[in-house]
Amino acid sequence: MEKTTHIAVIPGIGFSHLVPILQFSKRLIELHPDFHVTCIVPSLGSLPSASKSILQTLPPNINPILLPPVNLSDLPQGVPLLVQIPLIMSHSMPSIHEALKSLTTETTLVAMVIDSFAFEALDFAQEFNILSYIYFPAAATTLSALLHLPKLDEETSCEYRDLPHPIKVPGCVPFHGSDFYGPAQDRTSLVYKYALQRVKGIRFVDGIFVNSFLEMETSPLRALKDEEKGYPPLYPVGPIVQTATGFSAVGLECLTWLDKQQVGSVLYVSFGSGGTLSQEQITELAYGLELSNHKFLWVVRAPNNTTADAAYLGAQNDVNPLQFLPCGFLERTKEQGMVIPSWAPQVQVLGHSSVGGFLTHCGWNSILESALKGVPFITWPLFAEQKMNAVLLSESLKVGVRPRVNENGLAEREEIAHVVKLLMEGKEGREMRIRMKELEEAAANALKEDGSSTNALSHVAFKWNHS
Ligand code: UDP
Repeated sequence: MEKTTHIAVIPGIGFSHLVPILQFSKRLIELHPDFHVTCIVPSLGSLPSASKSILQTLPPNINPILLPPVNLSDLPQGVPLLVQIPLIMSHSMPSIHEALKSLTTETTLVAMVIDSFAFEALDFAQEFNILSYIYFPAAATTLSALLHLPKLDEETSCEYRDLPHPIKVPGCVPFHGSDFYGPAQDRTSLVYKYALQRVKGIRFVDGIFVNSFLEMETSPLRALKDEEKGYPPLYPVGPIVQTATGFSAVGLECLTWLDKQQVGSVLYVSFGSGGTLSQEQITELAYGLELSNHKFLWVVRAPNNTTADAAYLGAQNDVNPLQFLPCGFLERTKEQGMVIPSWAPQVQVLGHSSVGGFLTHCGWNSILESALKGVPFITWPLFAEQKMNAVLLSESLKVGVRPRVNENGLAEREEIAHVVKLLMEGKEGREMRIRMKELEEAAANALKEDGSSTNALSHVAFKWNHS
């Protein structure tokens, strides 16, 4: 009988740390059907329905183990998301250990691939004598910034945003300090401490898979492969994205609405799986879209005036988000646009021929999904590493335009209308669209049978098969 190679994968907490590693597992199985993957899923209790439906549709050689939920009352209340996530992951370690232990006794487990938030599990690789890899679901630019962070930390005495000069991360366009990695914006914070800890934890793995491809991030990827820096071997395996998202009746309705629009005429507006705007910003965005006179499809979420990642762990309240739109907006724009509450079938939306632009919060999955369809951007970063992604899109790849904000951080309606017009009807927009089409082709090539990303993954699979 042929030997089956077993791999364990360990996602982080949250939809966008579960789905990417599952997509990676699917890609691995698709290329190497003789592998078996067990996905050890930490949880907070009931998973969001989008995550559940993905787990229910996995192929037979990927099997999920849902860990007992972490007890929320064991965690400090009211701490930021990026403190909650590592704490939840820390509390999940005993059950992750148990799951790995039974896998090593029952199967021929050769390696584990983990989300970087699960870095504490790397200690178990030694104990169980298996290889360890990180799956980094974000940009190589972000990975380069993170791996560079300990050095930057040593060299810098002030907050990064107060530096008089831009920050130079190997291989990347220079970042203004305030655009640098979100969790590094307050160096006295726990979030920053955890980020540094995480980086130190991930430097000694057997390899890092990064969800990017050579043509999109040539220079950051080259810098990461520079052996003198002593980083682990790097494998660009992207773009790995969802191929389809489950959708509700409203989702279906928005696709039908798109069918009736002209090719390339609609701006899709969405802030990812959990991004939120303040009430004031929702109002400005609504008036800006209206003023632009362009067609739009807007996924509206209830406002949050204190944090931009309020809905990230699925903690959405039951209120109807449409009630926060300006008075009369829906009526006035009923021919111009469509708004849908909280969730759209994004992959299908971006693949629809009527969509000609994407106003995005610059989450990496959203960016890759758009790259695969050749749709250019209005970049509207909110949290985490999104400002760095925005810089990559607008200043390095030149496939996006970023609205200016006023002294209070608010993008005003006239500015929003201006960037919508620039993208949807201006010369710059046309040029961005051409560059985006080139990126679309490069993305598809990377995934072909002999493409750069396919080869990178097969190289490691060969090693696993022979270990
Ligand atoms: N997504 C979706 N519908 C929505 C919002 C988001 O299907 O209305 C999916 C999107 O396709 C992507 C993921 O959620 O796969 C968002 O990931 P991203 O990295 O862009 O942002 P995050 O949610 O991590 O902030």
